[in-house]
Formats: sequence, structure tokens, C-alpha cells
Amino acid sequence: MTDKTHANANAGHPASLTVIGHWGAYPGPGEATSCYLLRAEGSAVLMDCGSGALALLQRILPLHEIDAVILSHYHSDHVADLGCLQYAARIDMDLGRRKKPLAVYGHKESAGFHKLSYLEYAKGEGYDASCKIEIGPFSFEFAPMVHPDPSYAIGVRLPGHSTVDSKALVYSGDTGASETLVEFSRGAQILLCETSLYDAYRGKIFGHMSAGEVGETAKRAGISTLVATHLPHFGVHADLLSQATQAFGGDARLASTYMTLGLGSFQWMS
Ligand SMILES: [Zn+2]
Ligand SMILES: [Zn+2]
Repeated sequence: MTDKTHANANAGHPASLTVIGHWGAYPGPGEATSCYLLRAEGSAVLMDCGSGALALLQRILPLHEIDAVILSHYHSDHVADLGCLQYAARIDMDLGRRKKPLAVYGHKESAGFHKLSYLEYAKGEGYDASCKIEIGPFSFEFAPMVHPDPSYAIGVRLPGHSTVDSKALVYSGDTGASETLVEFSRGAQILLCETSLYDAYRGKIFGHMSAGEVGETAKRAGISTLVATHLPHFGVHADLLSQATQAFGGDARLASTYMTLGLGSFQWMS
């Protein structure tokens, strides 16, 4: 594949979510922390850009095809690769492979906001709970969560795909159990939810959820499919899944590298 002959890999791409990184805190070997790729109709958007994400992303699309990054918050496991992605944007623009600066969205409630822009190659923009951001066919909304550093859940709508009243996807970012998350996720097709803790740790670590709390959130919100992510580096993940499933009573899965889900007309793609 040469730069000049490479066609936009996102052109005509069905609306989808691909898990790039699913670890909390630090990446497992050869894997990545929080990073999720949304693609549809020529657009590619990342939600979070954690440690190890860029190496994995390049196996499925060139970095110059990433239009925007939306950050839930500024903890390192969600932003560690952003600086390198900004450098990639510089090199790609200088070489003519990227036409527009990388758009980077984050809230303005922490100092991390000031690192979103990089010369003329990356343009940082603030969001808050009242914002609606349109990128390609995607529409993004935000809700404040429960975390030591301000963190937002990200809601995604696909006009013409989602029903009017529900989102195609809600990504929790990092949060403790939250009534706001239940309401924000109401009726969503997919809840991509941080599941940092086994039930034995329920309520013991502020700002993160146990598997049972995740399942209860999914059940109360009436979502269709639960994907547990931001997984811990101890214990047996199958136990997380069984604890979440027991509380949810619906379709639940553990996130894994390159897991891909169709959005809109829902289907597991891989
Ligand atoms: Zn995190
Ligand atoms: Zn965090």
C-alpha cells in the first residue's frame, strides 16, 4: 500500500465501533488502554487515545484518516498516545497525506485541556454537558460522571440509524456508579462501560464501577447490549462477565482488541 494509491479505508464503511484498547491503567502485552474507533461513511473518530493505541490502530487504518479524537478525561490511560498522534498529524500534513488538522475535543475542567492543540496540526476544542458535536454522520453528547478528575460519558447518535429517542452507543469513560449514567444511557443500543472492579471491591474504590454495578446500570437503563471494558490486571475476567451478566440479565460481552460491533442495524461483526 503506497501513500498515493491508498484509498480512504473509511469510504462506504458501515457504521461501526472497534475496540482498540480495553485495559485500565496500563496496557497488557501487545495491547492498549482505553481507545475506541468509530467509523462510518468516510469518517473515523477515536474516543480516548490510551497507551499502545497508535500501534494497534495502524494495523487497520492509517493515522491520517483519523478525523477527530474525543477524550472522556485526561488520565494517562485515556490520553497517553495523543501527543504522538499530534506528531503523526504534523508529519502527515507536511507530506500532504492529511488535509485537515486533527480535531481534539475535551472538557475544560482540568489542565489537560491545554495540551489538546498542537501548532497548526491539532486543534483542541472544549465541550460540556450542553454541547452537541457533529462529525461526519455522528452526533456526540456528553454527561458528567463520578471520578476523581472530571470525566464525561460520551453518547453517540447516528441520524437515520438510531431511533429518535435513544443513542446508538454510550461510552461511560471512567466513573463510579451514577444515576446520570443510567439516564444518559436510557434505551441505548450499546453501553460500553468501564468495569474496573470485581464485586468484592464494590464501593471500595471511588470513581470506578464493579461488574454488578455495571450490570445494574445496563438493566435500569434498558440498553440492548453491554460491553464491559477498562478491565483490571488481576483476577479472572470471566468472573467480571458473569457478575455483570447476572445483574443485567441481557447480552453482555467483555471488550477485546479489535472487537467490532455494527451500529444502527446492530450486529456483531467480529
Ligand atoms: Zn482509566
Ligand atoms: Zn480515570
